[in-house]
Amino acid sequence: MSVEISNVTKRFGDHTVLDRLDLSVKAGSHVTLIGPSGSGKTTILRMLMTLTEPDSGTITVDGQPLFPAAQKQRRAVRRQIGMVFQQFNLFPNMSVLRNVTEAPVSVLGLSRDEAEARARELLDMVGLADKCDARPSRLSGGQQQRVAIARALAMRPKVLLLDEVTSALDPELVAGVLDVLRDVATTTDITLLCVTHEMNFARDISDQVLMFDAGRVVEAGPPEQIFGAPEEERTREFLSAVL
Ligand code: ADP
Repeated sequence: MSVEISNVTKRFGDHTVLDRLDLSVKAGSHVTLIGPSGSGKTTILRMLMTLTEPDSGTITVDGQPLFPAAQKQRRAVRRQIGMVFQQFNLFPNMSVLRNVTEAPVSVLGLSRDEAEARARELLDMVGLADKCDARPSRLSGGQQQRVAIARALAMRPKVLLLDEVTSALDPELVAGVLDVLRDVATTTDITLLCVTHEMNFARDISDQVLMFDAGRVVEAGPPEQIFGAPEEERTREFLSAVL
């Protein structure tokens, strides 16, 4: 599904976090948002998850209004969107399998058998087929994040939002999580919108990279341009600080 953000402004108090933002994500594409901390990247994902609302502007997903829109309409659109957070946010008192089956049963109305069959497939895909019965606390951070990815995919999202999904991980656990996401990018037609500090990952999986600063897109282009031949001084500055 495509995502269209038009002329969106978001303020917290007198701080303008997003300033008349336009952002267009084609169905099935992989778009990465990079830029300094505080530049508004996470706020965009949170608006798409309906966790926060713009002050003005419009957001549509596959042509359907998400903002402004009536509550029922927002929920229907929101149901097509999944998110994986920096902190995995698994349910600590449920087994891994139950973490992945809970919402498909309670929200999508799948039978427990159907949900479990699908969950086992997904846990296999993320390399955790043998952890179905474990509690999240018994897993490494990288394994927990892979469960969180399986849990998001179990809801069959058309759009998946990834918010710095490797930032809370020990360095040696990052590669396993990124491998799973590369797999998602290459084997599904899910639209991916990622906020990441992993520039190699961004370079690898993105069709388009957007460089943010102070609530605006300062440069947008394919990864070869942004990482290979950035046109804006601000992009060059940022990349030389993080690479
Ligand atoms: P990024 O993801 O680029 O680091 P964020 O979207 O998280 O940036 O934040 C952009 C700005 O909005 C930051 O200055 C942050 O402090 C501010 N901000 C985000 N959420 C809130 C909130 N709920 N209340 C007040 N300020 C917020």
